[in-house]
Amino acid sequence: MVESMESLAGIAIVEVETILVDVPTIRPHVLAMATMNSQAICLVRIRCADGITGIGEATTIGGLAYGPESPEGIKLAIDSYFTPILKDCDAARPAQAMTRLSRHIVGNNFAKCAIETALLDAQGKRCGLPVSELLGGRLRDRLPVLWTLASGRTDTDIAEAERMIEAGRHDAFKLKIGKRALADDVAHVGAIKKALGDRASIRVDVNMAWDETTAARGIAMLADVGCDLVEQPIIRHNRSGMARLRASARIPIMADEALQGPATAYDFASHAAADVFAVKVEQSGGLRAACEVQAIADAAGVALYGGTMLEAGVGTIASAHVFATFPALQFGTELFGPLLLTEEILTEPLDYSDFSLAVPAGPGLGIELDEERIAFHRRGASRATISIPAAG
Ligand SMILES: [Mg+2]
Repeated sequence: MVESMESLAGIAIVEVETILVDVPTIRPHVLAMATMNSQAICLVRIRCADGITGIGEATTIGGLAYGPESPEGIKLAIDSYFTPILKDCDAARPAQAMTRLSRHIVGNNFAKCAIETALLDAQGKRCGLPVSELLGGRLRDRLPVLWTLASGRTDTDIAEAERMIEAGRHDAFKLKIGKRALADDVAHVGAIKKALGDRASIRVDVNMAWDETTAARGIAMLADVGCDLVEQPIIRHNRSGMARLRASARIPIMADEALQGPATAYDFASHAAADVFAVKVEQSGGLRAACEVQAIADAAGVALYGGTMLEAGVGTIASAHVFATFPALQFGTELFGPLLLTEEILTEPLDYSDFSLAVPAGPGLGIELDEERIAFHRRGASRATISIPAAG
């Protein structure tokens, strides 16, 4: 084993390429802080001296509306600060490269995640192992996936949910609320729950839009109309407020925006400030950091949910490899990002069926970028010169 590690050592990183890609969404995606009509994706390609290329992705929600990093800023950070450091790193030692980056670069969790994804994809291809096996080994080959109803209209959302249940694609739904008056939001949730009944689990994400008093009232009202879970009802830094809400709520309270990696997960777990953690690989600072968040949750008896930053195929599958290693995933995942986009940017379609997503089994991430579609959607591309099939 020592010999094989030595034979891998000393593989130079030849090039780090970053590309911005804009892919339209299938419908406006209405959140408390933004309405999305397209998704901006920062793709990363790391080319190594042994001829292997790894791919990664950093994606945000609504530009800078959700967090402190934007796709454009991530590209700039990688080009200006990550790449010069990476050029002196060994591609066959991803953990060493990430440790080195963290020593020189504060924060920038999303950018770090994209780089770690690409390094692990390359390493998996090199070793002939899926990324989930590099992370300790997968415990499941499929992940349950919910769908977010965020058209902003009750009838439209009910019709959309009915279609998803009928197609066998999703039977758990998250509603984005917090933009309207509390009574209107609760009526919206109640009407959808009433229409779907026991055929579906209904949860809400407030995306921090409420103050604590409104949250206390809102959570009680949501429990009365059959809501199963309330996600991040108040501002991310009000950990004591989350603990108070959790203590009095009749339904589970989930932390999302509040979790910015293992240290915040430890803080929330040790103060009993959430029943459930939404684990996001980008927000955690990478794939291994997300696994550390999971370990903290398990140790503290906090339930788990696999979150999304509405990543396209690359980021979604990076997350899938991480979540496949989790012993418990009590609330499933929301890895539906590629389904919200008009086009997948992968050569092979992802397998969404039986209310779940298949975790690819091939080496690395087990996926490949569709270069023609990347060229078409690349920011600043001259689209007139590229032919592409009609969007499905
Ligand atoms: Mg959320």
